[in-house]
Amino acid sequence: MRITLYRPNQIGGCITEIESAAGTKVFIDLGHNLPRGGEDAPDEYDSDEAIMELTLGAQAILYTHIHGDHIGLFNHVPDGLKQYVGPLAKELMLHKYKHMSHIPGEEELYEGYIKQLERFEVYDKGHEFKIGDITITPFQVSHSAADSYMLLIDCDGKTVLHTGDFRDHGYMGTGVFKVLEPYHIKDNVDVMITEGTNIGNTSKSMRKESTLKKEFADVIKQYKYVFVMCSSTDADRLESIYGANMQSVKRPFITDGYQKEAMMILAGAADNKRPFYHFDSVEPYSYCPTNEKLNWLMKNKGFVMLIRCSDKFKRFLEKIFPLCTPEQSCIVYSQYHGYIDNRKDNTAFNPIAYDFIQQFKERGFAFHEIHTSGHASAETIKKLIETVNPKQSIIGIHKDERQTLESLGLSDELRGKITAKQTLEL
Ligand SMILES: [Zn+2]
Ligand SMILES: [Zn+2]
Repeated sequence: MRITLYRPNQIGGCITEIESAAGTKVFIDLGHNLPRGGEDAPDEYDSDEAIMELTLGAQAILYTHIHGDHIGLFNHVPDGLKQYVGPLAKELMLHKYKHMSHIPGEEELYEGYIKQLERFEVYDKGHEFKIGDITITPFQVSHSAADSYMLLIDCDGKTVLHTGDFRDHGYMGTGVFKVLEPYHIKDNVDVMITEGTNIGNTSKSMRKESTLKKEFADVIKQYKYVFVMCSSTDADRLESIYGANMQSVKRPFITDGYQKEAMMILAGAADNKRPFYHFDSVEPYSYCPTNEKLNWLMKNKGFVMLIRCSDKFKRFLEKIFPLCTPEQSCIVYSQYHGYIDNRKDNTAFNPIAYDFIQQFKERGFAFHEIHTSGHASAETIKKLIETVNPKQSIIGIHKDERQTLESLGLSDELRGKITAKQTLEL
């Protein structure tokens, strides 16, 4: 078999190609380069022609999760080529593009995306399936996008473990270590391909989501009017916020229609035996500026409201700001700090998000940041490599080009297996 890695030394936009000796070819992720400064980054593969050429002769594309830096080029995939993603991930993607298909002038574009997504095949977690002579077993892992997967690939008598993006400090965090023994992954992997976002990072927070839930509860108890800016498809973060409110003062929970529906999709897939993601136990209110009953309720009872940086929310806020007294109000920023950090040379800085947050500060609202990384810490990556104990090669992808797996402090034996080769023949 042959493994080819595209763009391994950057965070996001990673693409992995696996081809069996008999010629079966699959891709793991077709990620778009991450946006810079809030604007789309250029990407050499962002065209039908480039993806047609790249995927020529392939039988399937396997997506680990729905972040754009992993699935962002799906719309260029030729019609006959099979694409796979998690079942909940597929539903969330369809929901997103159905919502976007209402944007005037964009109807046709997103209708096309929807048609393509409707043809997507879905994973059955823990159950293997075959593409030609390649066998794939998807394992659900904790990450900052709902329904993320690690993939185990068996091909030509060799085994490859591709971690996708993962972490062990979410609500389903330790799950990744729990599947290693029952599925005979431990000591049985030849090549391990791991994400390395946080290698060498000492500044980013790695606190558990359960710790964040407590911090959210403290803030919600302290302020009557609480706005939270967070990702709309990060099930763990939504649980931290929604759960904190439910377990403390139970203020009216307000979202827009899009966010509410996403939460209902997540709730529909929640495990009844576990106390997470049951966002339908008390349904959020879907905000509408002309709903005066709701405005009255929000003014008098207070609220926890999920917001995004968009024109729609700017309109909503014009109506909501007069309901709030500044000394009883706060804005919680619950995303990557880099987006609103206006340091010089910070390429992640997003001036639109920065201005959006500033308007709350200018009104005298308290400002809090409650966030933890969606990615594994260096120690967790090290622990996973040590537990899997790959026989032949260890490859780091989805990492800063200045960082290498060598800095993890692995044993000499494991360190000797790290390779920076972009093509491997096994
Ligand atoms: Zn990623
Ligand atoms: Zn991701």
